[in-house]
Amino acid sequence: MSPRPDLGPKPKLAYAASQIERASERRTDEAFLRALMADARAGAYAVAGEMVVLKAGDGIHDPLFRLDEVAGLGTQTETVFLGLIDGAGRFGIGLDPGVVEPLKAQNRFVVTDLRSIAVQGLVAQDHLPPIAEAKALLHWHARHRFCANCGAPSRVVESGWRRDCPACKAQHFPRTDPVVIMLAIDGERCLLGRQTRFVTGMWSCLAGFVEPGETIEEAVRRETREEAGIACGRVSYFATQPWPFPMSLMIGCHAEALSSEITIDRSELEDARWFDREEAALMLLRRHPERRGTPPPVAIAYHIIRAWVEDGDRVLR
Ligand SMILES: [Zn+2]
Repeated sequence: MSPRPDLGPKPKLAYAASQIERASERRTDEAFLRALMADARAGAYAVAGEMVVLKAGDGIHDPLFRLDEVAGLGTQTETVFLGLIDGAGRFGIGLDPGVVEPLKAQNRFVVTDLRSIAVQGLVAQDHLPPIAEAKALLHWHARHRFCANCGAPSRVVESGWRRDCPACKAQHFPRTDPVVIMLAIDGERCLLGRQTRFVTGMWSCLAGFVEPGETIEEAVRRETREEAGIACGRVSYFATQPWPFPMSLMIGCHAEALSSEITIDRSELEDARWFDREEAALMLLRRHPERRGTPPPVAIAYHIIRAWVEDGDRVLR
């Protein structure tokens, strides 16, 4: 095995390691929630579709509003209870997407998407997990206003963690869609692909939704075979990352490649090829001579690739 490269300090994964105590047992406790909302320490994240509203600061911005401040931002949709930080309530408040342009016009606010906020480090890192929680949950409400069983309008209960249908009594719960994201490994090489929507020069792990009736390992093998024609054997779990675009859970894995000839599914990928560890290390370090790179450290793909570059096939346990 080639020597372990020095890639520097390990950066944090975005949207993970939430400090929020969800206090899920209090979601129906109306007196408790009223008291939390009346407390001056209560704070809310304001989300308008894909966009998040921030109070403009000097370099770093503040995403946390007092509840009365949110009222001044424009038409609200749902309010959801995210949980507690040191006993203070944290909420997500949906805003009508029509408020985005008027708010952008004001210097007091920065209105941008959550990917940019994470990649550019626009807010303190601890805010990213609760913003992700708010965004995913509010997106679910925006797309699930009607009962999937009978079509009647449903109503929000449990502080935003359930919708009930008054007509047929069905209960609907917020979804999280599992996505496998994996690095297939063939000795000293790994398989990376490019989707057409990727920025120039960026290569990443292959990924795809887990299908009903499938294990994580089966999904890893199926997606790798479908997208790149590579058969995989052993699959090792690495880590997960909440990915609120719109509401996924990325399940990071390493997989042992059993074949090496790539056949690309052009409907899924623009390109796919093998990279050796030395080249992958240069891509992680942003020092590749042809300016190829991996996704940024906010994404789990960076960490999956880095673990293999540092530890080789020891990642396959
Ligand atoms: Zn119904």
